[in-house]
Amino acid sequence: MGGSDRKRGFRPVEKGCIKVVRKIKLFRILCRFSSEVAINGITERVYKDSSSFYRNKSQPQFGKEQTMLKRIIVVVAVLSLAVAGGSCAEESKTTAAKAQSLKGPVPRNVILIGWDGAQRDHVNECLARKELPNLKKLSEEGTYVEIDIEGTTDTKAGWAQILTGYYPRVTGVYRNGRYQPIPKGLTIFERLEKHFGPENIVTAAVIGKKGNVDADPPKKIKVKDNGEEEKAKKKKRRPRGKIIEEDGVKYRLVPGKPYYYTKDSMDLFENGLRLDEKVGKRAIELIDKYKNRRFFLFVHFAEVDAKGHKFGENSKEYNDALISNDHWTGRITAKLRELGLYDKTRIYVTSDHGFDEGQKGHGNAPYVFLATNDKNVMRNGLRQDVAPTILERFGLDLSRIEPPLDGVTFSEPAGRPTPTLGPQPRKKRVRQAK
Ligand SMILES: [Zn+2]
Repeated sequence: MGGSDRKRGFRPVEKGCIKVVRKIKLFRILCRFSSEVAINGITERVYKDSSSFYRNKSQPQFGKEQTMLKRIIVVVAVLSLAVAGGSCAEESKTTAAKAQSLKGPVPRNVILIGWDGAQRDHVNECLARKELPNLKKLSEEGTYVEIDIEGTTDTKAGWAQILTGYYPRVTGVYRNGRYQPIPKGLTIFERLEKHFGPENIVTAAVIGKKGNVDADPPKKIKVKDNGEEEKAKKKKRRPRGKIIEEDGVKYRLVPGKPYYYTKDSMDLFENGLRLDEKVGKRAIELIDKYKNRRFFLFVHFAEVDAKGHKFGENSKEYNDALISNDHWTGRITAKLRELGLYDKTRIYVTSDHGFDEGQKGHGNAPYVFLATNDKNVMRNGLRQDVAPTILERFGLDLSRIEPPLDGVTFSEPAGRPTPTLGPQPRKKRVRQAK
């Protein structure tokens, strides 16, 4: 499926839907107007006047002009109420229709699977070589779309944006070296806990990485005068956290990690599992444990990123790690099938960032993907579109979310210009998977 074909195909739909959105906005304004009218008691007065008008129309104290005026007021009031009332009904019908128009049954569970550091081009090559059968199967049931990244292409920025639906100015998580705990209540986990009530949903995360997908509290560390800071400066590795001085002693203030607040609302937050096998097995255990409950599970595989840093994006090791991610994704879906949960569960596989072509880093790696068995994902998008999609599938009303989400659900046209990221660097050579 070519990205350009997709875009061409969807453009007209987008225009049509923008019109619908405008209509809904007009309905909302009318609804608000009609309720304000009611609150001010104007409606009541108009109706009172109209009834007295009909009662008294034969009486001479009503002048002709007055009669005309009253008649106009009545007609205008009745018409505006009819229009506004109709619009309100239409709006709720639209919301209901939207919920029903989503294809497939409403899922009970969602699993978000992270393939940390999976470069889109490399994933596409693996798919072409039939090395990722489970990702392919998932995509065939639902879809496979492209995700471009506007912000920093690293782990902290990536997962914070995916798990909240916001730009860093809202979460305070800009990149691995500039972050803070995500303010309370903004993550998918917390929104779901609040929406359903803690007794009615299990939210859990099993995470391969330690440092950058972390919930550690803030720390005040005494700075040793052993030249550590100087060494770090020379290596151009800026020491994390501000240095303060108290009673002549220097301390480094390390901010709390992104999920420091989030963790408190969750049923489970487990990180640092490192190996795909450990992450995968733990995820399967949890699915088994919570099979009779509604759940949202975040499963994060770290080996692709780790192998990329160690051996480079074009290495066999990086390729093998993608195959490993796919294998464990398949084991998870097999477990769901075994328990009869597969049809009740939507699975989204995505990545926080790609990898610099042929390199051992991802300084500028904005090309990733989203693969899912959700048939409602209809377009390419951005990292922040994942959270609204998941929240919508769980039945949350996105228009009520505060602050308004920066992302747009994948089941609707984005209604925004696509970011200009420059051309995707071309593959330099064709890899041989051995
Ligand atoms: Zn990395």
